[in-house]
Amino acid sequence: MITKMKYFSMAVAIATLSACSPKATDNGIDLTSIDTQVSPADDFYGYACGGWMKNNPLRPEHARFGSFDKLIEENQEQIRVLFDELSKSDAATGTNERKIADLYNMGLDSVTLNNQGAAPLRPYLDEIAAVNTNAEKSAMIAKLHLRNASPFFAIYVSGDEKNSSMNIIGTYQGGMSMGDRDYYLNNDEATVAIRNAYRNYINNLFTLSGYSQEQADAAVETVLNIETKLAEAAFSRVELRNPEANYNKMSYKQLKDTYKNIDWDAYFSALGVQAQDVVVGQVKAMAAVDALMASLSLDEFRTYLAFNMINCAADCLSDDFTNAQFDFYGRALSGKEEQEPRWKHALAVPNSLMSEAVGEMYVKKHFSPESKERMVTLVANLADALGQHIDALEWMSDETKARAHEKLSTFHVKIGYPDQWRDYSALEINPEDSYLDNALRAVEFENRNNIAEAYKPVDKDKWLISPQTVNAYYNPTTNEICFPAGILQPPFFNPNADDAVNYGAIGVVIGHEMTHGFDDQGRQYDKDGNLNSWWTAEDEARFNERADKLVAQFDKIVVLDGEEGPVYANGRFTLGENIADQGGLRVAHTAFINSLNGNTPDPISGFTAEQRFYLGYAALWAGNIREAEILRRTTTDPHSLGRWRVNATLRNIDDFYKAFNVTEEDDMYLAPEERVIIW
Ligand SMILES: [Zn+2]
Repeated sequence: MITKMKYFSMAVAIATLSACSPKATDNGIDLTSIDTQVSPADDFYGYACGGWMKNNPLRPEHARFGSFDKLIEENQEQIRVLFDELSKSDAATGTNERKIADLYNMGLDSVTLNNQGAAPLRPYLDEIAAVNTNAEKSAMIAKLHLRNASPFFAIYVSGDEKNSSMNIIGTYQGGMSMGDRDYYLNNDEATVAIRNAYRNYINNLFTLSGYSQEQADAAVETVLNIETKLAEAAFSRVELRNPEANYNKMSYKQLKDTYKNIDWDAYFSALGVQAQDVVVGQVKAMAAVDALMASLSLDEFRTYLAFNMINCAADCLSDDFTNAQFDFYGRALSGKEEQEPRWKHALAVPNSLMSEAVGEMYVKKHFSPESKERMVTLVANLADALGQHIDALEWMSDETKARAHEKLSTFHVKIGYPDQWRDYSALEINPEDSYLDNALRAVEFENRNNIAEAYKPVDKDKWLISPQTVNAYYNPTTNEICFPAGILQPPFFNPNADDAVNYGAIGVVIGHEMTHGFDDQGRQYDKDGNLNSWWTAEDEARFNERADKLVAQFDKIVVLDGEEGPVYANGRFTLGENIADQGGLRVAHTAFINSLNGNTPDPISGFTAEQRFYLGYAALWAGNIREAEILRRTTTDPHSLGRWRVNATLRNIDDFYKAFNVTEEDDMYLAPEERVIIW
């Protein structure tokens, strides 16, 4: 058994070792990340990540910087090298290589962008200023939706939640450019400051675009009035997590009869699709849009659309525009002190708008068949372990367990990159046109391709994020888990690390995504991806009882102790992610134990395999974060903050107590009857 004292002295020895050559001594754990002054039993996050936090201070361009973000930065560097090579090559016109290089170089060319000022925006604003009739207004909303702006509401195509093999069109509440209804409705000091910064931002955008100061002042009031009305009708982030409440399927006739002030024929015709049934995500929000369409003056309507247009174009315009955008979204909302270097933004444009063309080049350089093979095995091991957990659940009936097994066995697994690459040959990138024209053309190309899939069978092999993305996902309507090449790198997946560390890192990520299929939202979808309860009423009640206990635990977490009093985490909003973290940790641990076949690996760097598993997990969430960003994420991010993904989750897990000998005297300790285990 490791006592706290013994632990401390062992850690001192490590510190000496690590001073010479930390990586050489340990391929799985970066020993310099550990803060030996902190007891793992009191604050595991501080212990496992404290060194990392000291060694990686926030730079002015960061709102948050963690090991996750560090991998994203390394990833950007990999893509930058790729793009620089493309720029130097003489790739022929019309090839993906040429298109990517041209887009990238246009973004880097600040001289041209600054010379052009607001000029590239002019035709788009003139078009908005010319709308008159209701049909023209509705068509203009569609045009902006195709450009990724979301005035009034947003639109998407995806599998029908109640007929999951077919794609359907859905609407989603939107129109609030601050990003969340709370920013319009709350009146605490921090929110009021954000709102004032937003007023400045709107004002700046209009004056930079050539409007008079008087017009800009009026625009501020118009935009805020409209967005506040939309905010008042919007669901909260917690309400948005209830799939049934956000599924309101209407026939096209019903849609037209219910929201009469929108010319839906004109809207869908501009979108390029003949509408059939439509899922209205949030009926109250759409009713507010309908009312606004009737009550707004033509001038107010045009102003609101102009704002949406300028706001979506700003990051492809001159420094004046990007600075204004940074002042609000970067500084005021997230607490960043400085903009990121230009190349990062220039890189992000082709990387997102031609994502699979970039992905195809990326995986050739940065993803090996061996990695794919190891991942296939890991995923299979994790699935076996989750099956064992389902069997062992004491709160679930055999009937529901059988259904859970069915769902688990039909997971559609994607690893690395898609088998079929998207075709960009019809996309025109022309350096003779403005950067804005080209970027909007690429956005529209992507959105029109998505719209074209409406009312057709779901393509289950389509990837929802690109292979170079540092992330993973679970999609309930296709019951799929996806692990792109981008995340299959250290610290998530490390071919040179011992199994304990890999199971604690990528193993937990795999288990996390699998558990999403069984979290408070995911569990409501059946094996075919339909919103269709497969639970007995008793099992559902027992699940909810446990989930509520977990909500209460996280609700007690103080994320920031500010001058206006403590700010608490939102246990209901983060419930799905917290269930997934917990499930991921437990299932990956079982998979790791299974892989040992009864053997006990020798300690490495003084850490047992069990300890290395949890250190591997914590290392994923090491990071520093600004106070403004803590507040922003607490409002808008369904994931708990890194510190709590580690400390609050591990407090429920018995094996963690054993690994680090956590006892009643320690701060990490939670009495057994207070611990909650779901999967
Ligand atoms: Zn998740």
